[in-house]
Amino acid sequence: MIHMQDVYKTYGNGVTALNGISTAIDKGEFIYIVGPSGAGKSTFIKLIYREVKPSAGTVVINDTDLSTIRRRDIPLLRRDIGVIFQDFKLLPKLTVYENIAFALEVIEETPRQIRNLVMEVLNLVGLKNKARFLPAELSGGEQQRVSIARAIVNKPKIVIADEPTGNLDPATSRGIMRIFEEISDRGTTIIMATHNKEIVNTVRKRVIAIDDGLIVRDEQRGEYGYEA
Ligand code: ADP
Ligand code: ADP
Repeated sequence: MIHMQDVYKTYGNGVTALNGISTAIDKGEFIYIVGPSGAGKSTFIKLIYREVKPSAGTVVINDTDLSTIRRRDIPLLRRDIGVIFQDFKLLPKLTVYENIAFALEVIEETPRQIRNLVMEVLNLVGLKNKARFLPAELSGGEQQRVSIARAIVNKPKIVIADEPTGNLDPATSRGIMRIFEEISDRGTTIIMATHNKEIVNTVRKRVIAIDDGLIVRDEQRGEYGYEA
């Protein structure tokens, strides 16, 4: 479902973030991306939803080669990919409901479909009773649940999360991980960049370690492997 072959990324300022990466990720896999700060984890993740273009090499997502994708086809690619960030990136003036519905309205669903889909996903993340709240009225963990709901409301095949528990305490992080596991159980591919040693070492999954722009380790049921 995701194929990278000899991928390099050098940014406009001359910094090489990825230095020849090759990997394959199958449908339904749950993968942690670990490594020190500046290793290239975010760049790796951004390649997948085409936020970043490779300088060389091939990235293929669901049979679409991103090096030849037309600009007008990028939104179509992104419909299949839900993205979750450390800082949630919710729209502060919209309610929980509206933040999630917004993700659907941009792809022209009917009002009834929107209502059903939003309530279904709010139920999944345990926030049905907070639909009318504003983000600022929620805890960090609840805000992250909203951002997960927004990312999965389109039922994407791939969910990408960049440090999703980075701003959350350990107990809240474990709750967030249970939601990711539920999404994973539905067959969604999950790719999560994380510094959360405790989670990687307890909720065991495939671990890809990136260091200095290279994959230095790739293990099924792997460990975090760095001092946190
Ligand atoms: P390109 O897409 O052509 O590679 P860049 O990604 O280099 O362009 O440009 C993105 C912007 O982010 C630039 O203005 C760049 O200077 C800026 N930037 C520079 N260093 C960093 C950094 N470490 N993290 C995030 N952004 C950075
Ligand atoms: P990580 O997520 O592992 O911290 P990143 O992929 O964010 O690593 O960054 C890898 C390297 O690329 C770092 O040296 C970083 O400063 C640089 N970098 C990241 N984004 C940009 C950008 N937009 N422009 C220039 N340099 C960048």
